[in-house]
Amino acid sequence: MIPYSSLQEAEIALGRELTYAERLWFNYSAQKSDYYLYCHNILLLFFVFSVVPLPLVIMELKRSKTIDKYKLQPKVRMSFSEILRCYKEVMRMFLLVVGPLQLVSYPTVKFVGIRTGFPLPSGWEICLQLLVYFLLEDFGNYWIHRLLHCKWGYEKIHRIHHEFTAPIGFAAPYAHWAEVLILGIPSFLGPALVPGHMITFWLWIALRQAEAIETHSGYEFPWSPTKYIPFYGGAEYHDYHHYVGGQSQSNFASVFTYCDYIYGTDKGYRYQKEHLGKLREKWTSGGEQNGGSYHIATQDLKSE
Ligand SMILES: [Zn+2]
Ligand SMILES: [Zn+2]
Repeated sequence: MIPYSSLQEAEIALGRELTYAERLWFNYSAQKSDYYLYCHNILLLFFVFSVVPLPLVIMELKRSKTIDKYKLQPKVRMSFSEILRCYKEVMRMFLLVVGPLQLVSYPTVKFVGIRTGFPLPSGWEICLQLLVYFLLEDFGNYWIHRLLHCKWGYEKIHRIHHEFTAPIGFAAPYAHWAEVLILGIPSFLGPALVPGHMITFWLWIALRQAEAIETHSGYEFPWSPTKYIPFYGGAEYHDYHHYVGGQSQSNFASVFTYCDYIYGTDKGYRYQKEHLGKLREKWTSGGEQNGGSYHIATQDLKSE
């Protein structure tokens, strides 16, 4: 809670005029407790889990030719009831694990020093902190994910997330409750080591989940703004991991590609990509169009 009773009092304490964003923040948060502000995460997560994948659901159900050429596994069709089952399971996990975890983890947030007062962080501060959060989470997530692919971890826990060999947006948080809990650790690593403002924390939670939905979308759109992010994995990168399934020892990273490159766990994927390039050349010279999917290539290679 902001320790000032009025805008004037805040300006006197800061020794300057408040910015427009600070005025907005004051008007919104002055009467709200820090705990209440922190709990906005639950609403944000509910919104991201429920609303962000909806355009992908419409695409999946309509399967128009214009959009279908960007589908990574075009032969797989998901019915409405399968999508609904996935969403229901995600919501069950949300009510039983994600929501309660948010409610009880407030003392940790307070302990690490996530603040709600003035001054508000600058745009640069927010961007740099988010970059650090993404890098730290990516590294932690890589190793936990890789461990989950050991025999025991896969059979007991991670198998659930891999039920979708052709992932859809709603399947991003679809996982065993233990996986949801364990993967919360790298998500919190960044805010714990480099604590920032509550607004940055909200943005982090929302952006990370939106990114996970994109990588599980099942579509690789050439116009996606994430294409401009250096070393970004994206949908095709993670879709390959799901496609290969339990045997997969490739593409463990959640956001970027550098961990898989450094630790040599992208070799299978790169091999397929290389062959896809050659097959594409063959198709193009033969006047054939392909659906933009590496799986066509994988299937071709398998039958060779
Ligand atoms: Zn996996
Ligand atoms: Zn996944």
